[in-house]
Amino acid sequence: MLSVSDAEAIILNLVQPLDQQQDTELVDLFAATGRILASPIASQLDFPHWDNSSMDGYAVRYQDVQDCSTENPAVLEIVEEIPAGYQSQSTLQKGQAARIMTGAMIPEGADTVVMQEVTHREENRVFILAAPKPQEFIRPRASYHQAGTQLLPQGIILNAPEISVLAAAQCTLPRVFRKPIVAILSTGNELVTPDTPLQPGQIVDSNQYALAVLVKQSGAEPLMLGIIKDEPVTLKQAVAHAIAKADLVLSSGGVSVGDYDYIEQIIESLGGKIHIHAVAIKPGKPLTVGTFSRSLSPLYFGLPGNPAAAFVTFWRFVQPAIKKLSGLAEGWEPKLIKARSRHELRADSKRETYLWGQTFLNREGTYEFQPASGSHSSGNLINLAQTNSLAILPIGQTLIPAGEHVLIIHTAHCK
Ligand code: AMP
Ligand code: MG
Repeated sequence: MLSVSDAEAIILNLVQPLDQQQDTELVDLFAATGRILASPIASQLDFPHWDNSSMDGYAVRYQDVQDCSTENPAVLEIVEEIPAGYQSQSTLQKGQAARIMTGAMIPEGADTVVMQEVTHREENRVFILAAPKPQEFIRPRASYHQAGTQLLPQGIILNAPEISVLAAAQCTLPRVFRKPIVAILSTGNELVTPDTPLQPGQIVDSNQYALAVLVKQSGAEPLMLGIIKDEPVTLKQAVAHAIAKADLVLSSGGVSVGDYDYIEQIIESLGGKIHIHAVAIKPGKPLTVGTFSRSLSPLYFGLPGNPAAAFVTFWRFVQPAIKKLSGLAEGWEPKLIKARSRHELRADSKRETYLWGQTFLNREGTYEFQPASGSHSSGNLINLAQTNSLAILPIGQTLIPAGEHVLIIHTAHCK
């Protein structure tokens, strides 16, 4: 059976990112939060825009003050006051200084700023009580960034630091990738919506909500197509509709070997190709991945119906695929982090096993994994609540004793 890492490689290879020309939109700066930049940004501005002072003090000529001290202060004539936002009108001559505030433009002729704390002022004269270093407290023009060169690369997520850079560069309508549309359908004759009174044998379609929230939190747009009966004609119509509407399709259920598991044959009857039938992962073995056209879009994921299996396969395989699809340039795969397990962890060793739970950052700055209490059955969705990470036991490993290290991936922020 296909290993988890081989399945991941196949999936990421199949994902075609959104098109840099066609699949983009212009958004205002606030709406750009969490979106992915579709083209690189170059600024026409230098940063800083001009030489400016990093202190409140006096702009001086270094030559005039290089030998001064408390006993032998340099005495300079103050010829100008330069607040931030004001352009100096004069050029400093020998023996002159300008009062200057943080962020203000350095006047012509000055090459150094002396901070206020080592000066003494008497009317329009300033006594410099300590020799500065040459160019001290000057932020030179273009020392942070040169006009015309790349300011932000394509394919990064825009959050507060990036959006403040865009604002400073006066790039008010950045071009971002549109959000990919992810269709979600739940298959199963036993399923009903959460507001329907349950008849014997029925269960609520919780996967529809689980997947919609996961899709939204991954930066994509969920298209919730509801419950589809295990009936080949209806199911085929629903899948055909989903693949026509979406960049990626997620169905849950119907991918195992039961009598009502039709997903693979429907993909094939719609001209699709199955790339993955099953993966050596627990929970989540019956995972189907298919494509329908040469362009490989949309990618089809037939996730297992069991809730924990649907979650685990989403976190492990679908989320990286959505990240790549969205135009994110890198960092698609989940990051593996070392944590100390607070409890013994057990696995059957035949498949890569994922155990859900909570990871805490302790006072020493190291991670501790607390497995969810109760059954780690693929059908148990109740103890998934509060999950923020998955511990991974590789094939061949049956036991991780309490206190030993285990690799985890984060699924949400850790406490
Ligand atoms: P299946 O993969 O279709 O055989 O589904 C396996 C089991 O997962 C079913 O017996 C249900 O108990 C459960 N299941 C399937 N679909 C859903 C769903 N949409 N929401 C919650 N549980 C589901
Ligand atoms: Mg089913």
